[in-house]
Amino acid sequence: MNYRHIFHAGNICDVVKHAILILLIEHLRAKPAPFCVLDTHAGMGLYDLQDPRAQKTDEAQSGILRFLQAPLYSELTTYYETLQRFNPGWQVVQEKTADHFRFYPGSPLVAAHLLRSQDRLIACELHPEDAQTLKRQARAFPFMHIHHRDGYEALRAFLPPSEKRGLVVIDPPYESPEEFARLAQESAAACARWPQGIFMIWYPVKERPSIWRFHEMMVASGIPRQLCAEFIYEEETRHDRLNGCGLLLINPPWQFDEKLRLLLPALHEMMQTPARQVHVHWIVEEKKDIRAY
Ligand code: SAM
Repeated sequence: MNYRHIFHAGNICDVVKHAILILLIEHLRAKPAPFCVLDTHAGMGLYDLQDPRAQKTDEAQSGILRFLQAPLYSELTTYYETLQRFNPGWQVVQEKTADHFRFYPGSPLVAAHLLRSQDRLIACELHPEDAQTLKRQARAFPFMHIHHRDGYEALRAFLPPSEKRGLVVIDPPYESPEEFARLAQESAAACARWPQGIFMIWYPVKERPSIWRFHEMMVASGIPRQLCAEFIYEEETRHDRLNGCGLLLINPPWQFDEKLRLLLPALHEMMQTPARQVHVHWIVEEKKDIRAY
């Protein structure tokens, strides 16, 4: 396990992922009934952008720090509020709002901030040091349960949850060439066990054939309502670098595709990305109408 998210915290893909995560949790919060969030690959929770490892790559510079220099975007008010929660003393203002911004919250803390007392968060992290760090941060959130265990195994152990409503976030490091295949197999099985759940699966856009195979496997699973949203910020002329990221959303809220078609171009504009492509399309539509892929 060489991957450490601290080297990438607050980068362009984190902003995209967490902005969408927040919209999904806002949807769940719209009803009083309790919900459960399972974060299978949680990371360490809070990232200090002044940590030498974060500064080594400085990926936050083109991500969250550039995002915060853009005019405020009203659809993302909850994202700004979440950032504020973990940066006491820092103010979101219309201009120069990136100044003195220091702590970037990862997916488990974004979710923890948004959960209500009746909701529950289960977060899994396999790296022993990051799991310990996350456990310390979870003390502030009584409804947050941290497990130092394999996230795929957790899908089998915790789904379906007793709450009946909720979200599964699957955000692996893609260190192994086998990751896409395992991801497809485990996600399809998990969706079958919990058809009412919303699933959000993150993947890197580097070389296309792995993504095609992943989508083909997911389509072949027969799971309905699979929406693909890709945010491409570099021309796809090289496959040895991150050109963007994709999210496979299974069972997303009604008209979420329309929301993303507005949000993703706005994020490109805010982060002034070099290339600006957005693809939002259903790989499997609502009525199990399998699209030619
Ligand atoms: N989801 C986090 C966020 O948005 O803030 C970032 C997660 S990072 C991309 C992937 C994390 O998965 C790393 O912290 C890594 O240590 C952890 N990891 C790797 N393999 C794992 C596994 N099989 N089960 C659980 N966690 C794993």
